[in-house]
Amino acid sequence: MFRFPFNNQYVTLGEGFFSRTQPTPVSEPVLIRFNHELAEQMNLDLDGTSPDQLGLWFSGNDIPEGAEPLSMVYAGHQFGFYTPQLGDGRAILLGDVMGQDGQNFEIQLKGSGRTVYSRNGDGRSPLGPVLREYLVSEAMYRLGVPTTRALAAVATGDPVYREVVLPGGVLTRVASSFVRVGTFEFHARHSDQEGLTKLADYVIGRNFPELSESENPYRALLEEVIKRQASLIAKWMQYGFIHGVMNTDNMSIVGETIDYGPCAFMDSFSINKVFSSIDQQGRYAYSNQPGIALWNLARFAECLALIVNPNLDAAIEEIRPELEKFNSLYEKAWVSGMQAKVGLIGVYQNSKSLANSLIEELLSLMQECCSDFTISFTELSRLSDQADKQDQSFLRQFTSNQLAAQKWLEKWREALAIQGMDQNERQSQMQNVNPIYIPRNHLIEESIRSAEDDRDFSKFHELHEVLKTPFAEQVGKKRYQKPPNPEQEVKQTFCGT
Ligand code: AMP
Ligand code: MG
Repeated sequence: MFRFPFNNQYVTLGEGFFSRTQPTPVSEPVLIRFNHELAEQMNLDLDGTSPDQLGLWFSGNDIPEGAEPLSMVYAGHQFGFYTPQLGDGRAILLGDVMGQDGQNFEIQLKGSGRTVYSRNGDGRSPLGPVLREYLVSEAMYRLGVPTTRALAAVATGDPVYREVVLPGGVLTRVASSFVRVGTFEFHARHSDQEGLTKLADYVIGRNFPELSESENPYRALLEEVIKRQASLIAKWMQYGFIHGVMNTDNMSIVGETIDYGPCAFMDSFSINKVFSSIDQQGRYAYSNQPGIALWNLARFAECLALIVNPNLDAAIEEIRPELEKFNSLYEKAWVSGMQAKVGLIGVYQNSKSLANSLIEELLSLMQECCSDFTISFTELSRLSDQADKQDQSFLRQFTSNQLAAQKWLEKWREALAIQGMDQNERQSQMQNVNPIYIPRNHLIEESIRSAEDDRDFSKFHELHEVLKTPFAEQVGKKRYQKPPNPEQEVKQTFCGT
C-alpha cells in the first residue's frame, strides 16, 4: 500500500500548541472527488489507489501510516471581540508532506469529528459546505489567488443535525501552513514569550527561511505577512470576492485565503455588499475588506511586539512603520490590478490621474447600474479600439445609464489611443485577468441541492470542470457565465457550522 511521505513539523512544536486527536469514524464513507493533480504536486502517488481506500483515508476512518493526527489550538478576534480559546473544533491535521518543488503542504481533515476545541459543536460538517469549499477554493487557485486547496471530498453516510437534518461530509484541505493570526494571539495572550518565539521561529524556518538572515527576523516576518495580505486582498477585490468572516482566526500567516464559510463572489456590483447571514453589522462587507485586513494585521503586530524588542516602547516604534506600509502596498496592488483589468497599464505610466479616474468612473457607473461585476470586465476585454456593434454587449450591463457608459467608452478609447498598444495584445492581456467563469452562488447552490437532495454529483463535477479554465471561452458552457435570474439569486450565505 502507498506510504505517504510524511515529514511532520507542527508536531515538533510540542505540547501547548495542539492536542493529539483521532478522527471519529463515519458510517459509510464514499469518495466524491479526489484531486489527482494536486496529489501529484504534493508527491502523493495515489493514482493506483482505489476510491474505497481514498474514501477511508479522507474520511478519517483509516489513518495513513506516518500521520500524527492533532488539532491546533488558537485564539481569535471574532467580529472584533476577543475569544481566548478557539482551536480546530472540527478539523484534524494529519501531517505535513513536501511537494515536488520543495513546497510544504499540511493535510487537514475538516468535519472529522469532535476535538477538545469543539466547545458545543459536533465536529462535523454538512456535505453542502464541503462541496462549496471544494469548488470555491479550487476556483480561487485557478484564478491565481493564493488559497488553501481541496484534496478530497467524501460523503460520510451520517446525518448532521442543524436546523434541519443534512447529509454529512468531510473535506480534506491542504495549506502551506494552517497557522493563523489567532495562533499568535493565543500565545501572546498567555504572555508566553517562549511559546511566541517558538511559533515565530517555526513559521520563519518552515515557510520563510530567507527571513532568518534579516537583521530582525520578527520584524521581517511582520513585513512579509503584511505584504502578502495586501496583495491577497487586492486580488479578492478584483474578482469581486467577499470572504464573509475575516476574523483573526480565519487569517492565514502565509497569505492564503482560508476558511471558506459564508463567502461569495458578487454578481451585480455593490460596494457595500454583505453575504454572510451572521454579519448583521456589515463588518465584513466587500469594501471593508482592506480595512479589516489592516485591523487584523494590527492584532498580529501586537503579538510580535512582545518579541521584536525586549523594550516594548522600542518594539512599538519598530512595528508601527511596518503597519503604516499596508495602505500603500494595498493601493499599489489594487491599482496595478485594476489597470490590467481595464487594459490601461501603459496609460498609467504616463498619466496616473487619467487612468485612475477612468477606473473610478467605471466602478461608480457599475454601482449605479447594478452591472454584473464579472461580465462587465469580460465584455470590456472583448471590445476593439474603435467603436463597433460589439459595444452593445458591454453597454447591456448599463441599461439604466447607457449614455454615461457610452461616454465612458469614448474616454477609454481616447486613453487607449494615447497608449498605442497593439489591439490584439491589449485584448489578450485583458482576457488573462478578466475571468469568464467564476463560482457564482446560484450555480454552487444548484450543485449542492442536487447532491444533497438526490445524491447526484454530476452538477458539482461539471461546475468544477468549467472553473478549471476560468479565462477561456468554453463551448456549450454559456449558462455558467450568466448571472442568476431574480428567482435564482442567493442573497445570503451561511457558515454551515
Ligand atoms: P469558523 O468561523 O467556521 O472558522 O469557526 C470558528 C470556530 O468554531 C473554530 O474554532 C471552529 O473549529 C469552530 N467550529 C465551527 N463549526 C464547528 C462544529 N460543527 N463543531 C465544532 N467546532 C466548530
Ligand atoms: Mg475558522
